[in-house]
Amino acid sequence: MTLKFSDLTLHPLLIQSAADLGFQTPTEVQSRVIPIMLDGKDVLVQSQTGSGKTAAFGFPVLNDLLINEHAKSIHTLVLTPTRELAIQVADAVELYGRLQKVRVLPVYGGQHYGTSIRKLKEGVDVVVGTPGRLQDLIRRHILDLSHIRTMILDEADEMLSMGFVDDVENILKETPDQRQTALFSATLPTQIRRLAEKYLNQPEQVILQHKELTVDTVNQRFYLVREKDKLAALTRLFEVEDIGSTLIFTRTRIGSSRLANDLIQRGFAAEALNGDLAQEARLRVLNRFRGGQVKVLVATDVAARGLDIDDITHVFNYDIPEDPEAYVHRIGRTGRAGKDGVAISLLTPKDKRYLSRIEVYTKHRIQQAQLPTEKDIQERRDLKLLEKMEVWLERDRCTREQELAEYMIASGYDPVKVAAAALKMARKGLADHPLERISPVQFKESRTKFKRGKNKPHRKGRSSRQGQFQRTASVREKGMVRLSIAKGREHGIKPGEIVGGIASVADIPGFGIGRITINEKTTLIDVQKEYVPAVLKRSGSYHFRNNHKVTIQQFSN
Ligand code: AMP
Repeated sequence: MTLKFSDLTLHPLLIQSAADLGFQTPTEVQSRVIPIMLDGKDVLVQSQTGSGKTAAFGFPVLNDLLINEHAKSIHTLVLTPTRELAIQVADAVELYGRLQKVRVLPVYGGQHYGTSIRKLKEGVDVVVGTPGRLQDLIRRHILDLSHIRTMILDEADEMLSMGFVDDVENILKETPDQRQTALFSATLPTQIRRLAEKYLNQPEQVILQHKELTVDTVNQRFYLVREKDKLAALTRLFEVEDIGSTLIFTRTRIGSSRLANDLIQRGFAAEALNGDLAQEARLRVLNRFRGGQVKVLVATDVAARGLDIDDITHVFNYDIPEDPEAYVHRIGRTGRAGKDGVAISLLTPKDKRYLSRIEVYTKHRIQQAQLPTEKDIQERRDLKLLEKMEVWLERDRCTREQELAEYMIASGYDPVKVAAAALKMARKGLADHPLERISPVQFKESRTKFKRGKNKPHRKGRSSRQGQFQRTASVREKGMVRLSIAKGREHGIKPGEIVGGIASVADIPGFGIGRITINEKTTLIDVQKEYVPAVLKRSGSYHFRNNHKVTIQQFSN
């Protein structure tokens, strides 16, 4: 049976804190270390980063602060090798102990002494710091460790390999002999064992086996995006990744169908693997996927059950799963049989806790990556165009086209200009869609920095983007001006061409174009107010399919 936090004889406030943070069950290091520390014993722990070790020592310390009377002095000192870890640990302990208003002070080189002095005077329960600065504070008589009850050495092997061994020992000597000591280290080389022998009192040992739940052949990373920008982000990634057979996971069945449709509209051969599909239809979809006619399959965990295909190059978590086991299961679909695979997760800021759970469960840090910029995509498109051209140059089978080029050159055109014009025409044929802007986003700390300014152009979400392709006349969207062209269905006008055609000629972003209504002889196009002058300025130079020099004007009814 899995242990619960309530089984660990922790103070109710801490059980509440764990529940508030969404920690359902203690991690292995927590369930093994917390009881030892609650017993007041010393402990030597071998565990990895991301195993949940901060709570493994944090909870017992916070528990002691809650149940025992203490003098005003510092209760616990946590020693960390780096400033980053000091901040991270201090934040975590403060978070775990927020219900009891624990006072935590991180100290590291480069800080103003004044702040530390003031905070220490006001009273601090837990100090988290790097060896250099701690020693400095001791020497200046700012920090007094003579009454601490608990001492934690975090990432001890790192501290030693950074050459801090003397500093660590000097600090330990400043603390009382009867303190409780916990030493955490990813590895246990002789030097660490020696340190433990010298400074720990009959420690219990907790050795955690590093179980590989995910395989090295899968490159795992995540991108931080807002929910409304997920589709735009996915589309960008599709352009730069070498996508082969791809599986995309969504949280809901409806979400999977909607996403498959959105991708089709953007020119990607996608299909939803729907749990409701009859067995025969499901097999048809799977065969198309296996055969490569469908490159992208969008599914929920339920719909993908039993799916056993070897050559999947990419797994996308369009929605991150709440259950870490589901994550492992999903990404295990790629990187099989010794081949490399890519597992990409799109995360919104509020998904951070699910990411942590996955990292704890898989014992693997998932790296954050940056989305390709518009410039990256343009470069990639250029590269693809040049690669295509190289293929034709190698084939050397353009005799008729060569005659045409020679004719143009003989007529006085510059050869480079002729080639450039041909490339421009070829690019049009590739039907690259206009790029949608993606607003930057960060986790918690900086989230507030990106408040949308009043003057920022209104950014269209997925629902309005879908609306763009509706053919029925409807109410104009807010902030939009309706324009019209004297070409319609009978002239072969298609909505996809309108967006690309107008955006590229008028040099405006695709999201500046709203609803498009194609009638028999005319087409109505809603354009965001601020882009209207740019669009009207190029009137007469638009071309859609066989319709050249199309004029565009303000619509009046
Ligand atoms: P740590 O190894 O302490 O840096 O923890 C790694 C991540 O795991 C942190 O983001 C914690 O919030 C998260 N975490 C710690 N304990 C648990 C738990 N019992 N359940 C889920 N997540 C946890």
